[in-house]
Order: sequence, then structure tokens, then C-alpha cells
Amino acid sequence: MQHSELREDVTIGILALQGAFAEHQVMLKKLSVKKRIVILLVRTQEDLESCDALIIPGGESTTIALLARLAGLLGPLRDFVKTKPVWGTCAGAILLAQSVEGAKQGGQELLGGMSVTVARNGWGSQVESFEAPLEVEALRDSDRPFHGVFIRAPVIIALHPSPSDPPMQILSRISTSLLPRTQTLVPYDEDDTDPRDSRTIVALRQGHHLLTSFHPELTKDDRFHEYFVRECVLSSLVSQ
Ligand code: GLN
Repeated sequence: MQHSELREDVTIGILALQGAFAEHQVMLKKLSVKKRIVILLVRTQEDLESCDALIIPGGESTTIALLARLAGLLGPLRDFVKTKPVWGTCAGAILLAQSVEGAKQGGQELLGGMSVTVARNGWGSQVESFEAPLEVEALRDSDRPFHGVFIRAPVIIALHPSPSDPPMQILSRISTSLLPRTQTLVPYDEDDTDPRDSRTIVALRQGHHLLTSFHPELTKDDRFHEYFVRECVLSSLVSQ
């Protein structure tokens, strides 16, 4: 038995440079799981070094990346992502992607970690936000839809796992009728009715990483937080 299995608590960091980190903190506080969760708002490399896992919140991915660079955190975050569980919501999901389209001029610094390409603000600027009930079989009480809140969300435009990458698990998709229609990056075509279109994917797991293009932390439903802690974090401690 590994030392980590014997530990009584697990430290989950929330990157707290900009965006909805406080909302994630509230959700984590409410969770009841097998181990005690220590929640750490991460602003420095020392903070990050104490964490077993990390949540990157929604906000503005360019701002988060810039502040991370200024804090000397970009390199440590990239190393962290290589070995520890990370969940990115919305802007956080952009940072977890391998590549991004629609980045601001001057580019966008990413952490990588998930083998996807995303289009930033993929639903366009006119219809910036929408809400949709999501079917997510992997969650507790899966008969109950999860309320997806999408705010200038990224669109997953391609998956490109290589054979050496951990397998991908698509946790939730939206219907093709919700595909973006208003912007030019990912042009909408009337024939876009293939439910397997990667742009319909809104929650994706790869190994111990999780990406959601919506904001579970802006609801009162803690099931995604529970899923991340139980399936991505605690299970990875056991398999260390
Ligand atoms: N569009 C934002 C970005 O590019 C993300 C929006 C969000 O996190 N709600 O970072």
C-alpha cells in the first residue's frame, strides 16, 4: 500500500488569479467524500507544490495566462498538468487544451494536458451565453439532467489523442441544434446533424484530467465536483 492511500486528506488547489475561483471553493466545501478535502487557493509556486490536484476556473483565459506568467507559475503549472489531476472549466478548459483557435493577437499561452483543439469564444459574440440541460451518465443520480451554464464558452473543434495518451471519455454532448451559428471560426452548416461532431462535446475526461466548457460552479449542483474528486483525484492517488 502506498503512502498516499494512508493519508487522511487530499489537497485540492483552485487557481485563484482571476475568474470564478471563489465559487469552486464554495462547491468543494460542501462535498462529502471519503477523504477530508483541504482547499487551497493557488497564487504561487509554493501553493501549487502542496496540491494533489487543481481546478482552473472560468474567467478570461488570456488574463489567467498572463497573470500566471507574471507570478512565475506558467512553467510549474505545465509540469503539474503532466502528472497530477486537473479540471478546467470554460477559460480553464481553454488552458488545458493542446491548441486554440481564435486566440487574441500575440497568441495565447496554454498549459496543454488534453489532446483537443478548442475555438475560444466558439459560440460567437452575439449569442454569448446560453443554458441547456445536459445528460451525463457518469454522474450520481444520472436520471437528473445537469444544468449547463455556457458563458462565451469554448467549442471543441478537434480531438487528436495519440496512442500513448490516456483514453478519452466523452461525458456529455449537446444536441447538434445548439451548435454555434453566429460566428465564422467554426462555420455552421445546415447539414451539421452528425451527433458525433466533436463540437457537440461539452464535458470530456482524459486520464485524470477533466474539461467542461460550461460552469458547474455557477449552479447549486455539486455532482461534477464530486465526480472530479472521486473519479479523477482519489482514484489517481490509489493508482500512484
Ligand atoms: N471566453 C473566455 C476566454 O476566452 C472564457 C469565458 C468563461 O470562462 N466564461 O477565456
